[in-house]
Amino acid sequence: MVHLKSQREIGRLRESADLVGRTLAEVARHIERGTTLQELDAIAEDYIRTHGAEPAFKGYQVGDNVFPNTLCTSVNDAVVHGIPNDYALQDGDLLSIDCGAKLNGYYGDWGYTFAVGSIDDEDAALCRTTYESLLEGIDQAVAGHRVGDISNAVQSYCEERGFSVVRDLVGHGIGRSLHEDPQVPNFGKPGQGRRLKPGLTICIEPMINRGTAQVNTASDGWTVRAADGLPSAHYEHMVVVRDEEAEVLSDFGYIEDVIDPPYETDVLTETTTR
Ligand code: MG
Ligand code: MG
Repeated sequence: MVHLKSQREIGRLRESADLVGRTLAEVARHIERGTTLQELDAIAEDYIRTHGAEPAFKGYQVGDNVFPNTLCTSVNDAVVHGIPNDYALQDGDLLSIDCGAKLNGYYGDWGYTFAVGSIDDEDAALCRTTYESLLEGIDQAVAGHRVGDISNAVQSYCEERGFSVVRDLVGHGIGRSLHEDPQVPNFGKPGQGRRLKPGLTICIEPMINRGTAQVNTASDGWTVRAADGLPSAHYEHMVVVRDEEAEVLSDFGYIEDVIDPPYETDVLTETTTR
């Protein structure tokens, strides 16, 4: 069931999105060669709890699998859902971090792919294309369009540039639950799927691979990896469907006040304001 949010609820969601942003900024300060994924996770959990919220992913259950940490940390060929461990970051790594927090009953959930030190040109192109495809998807998140318009915008933008779209995982509605209807795939046909209405709040989150779109889940039950071992990127924004132009609740500016983005930002301009 789809629940359209009131302005009050959207205000709550913006506060949750902001807390995720401030958490990711704190994490970003420590992303460098030698830092372990567990160290980043501890920073995030401490920050979220200190600010009166709960980590959204810790304890999240799918079947018998319980996610054990605050952040999802997915390095290089890991697409999403990586469990923070004692891996120490190396120059040239791509690090996708997904962060969720529950504040005053409402969830924030968004993520960003970071470059550790300098990355190669192909990885930079992957990050740029993934990020820009997210903006293309957001452009379609207006009332009267359909979910498939978002999906197709992301898919065509990435595939035209030689990258592949992971199909096993999708974006989603968000509110008092972390994952609400509708599902928001990163692939699909324009004009198909649920019609978008003002006040619908969704997470759009392209997961894009340099090589094959095929993925495998690791034996830990969570970490999703590209089947060919090539790098993957993931950017996620929280978005409100509006009549004229989508409103973006999450703000990458929190992160980009701390680090230089791995993509060039002069191509498209985000509509987000803080
Ligand atoms: Mg999400
Ligand atoms: Mg997420």
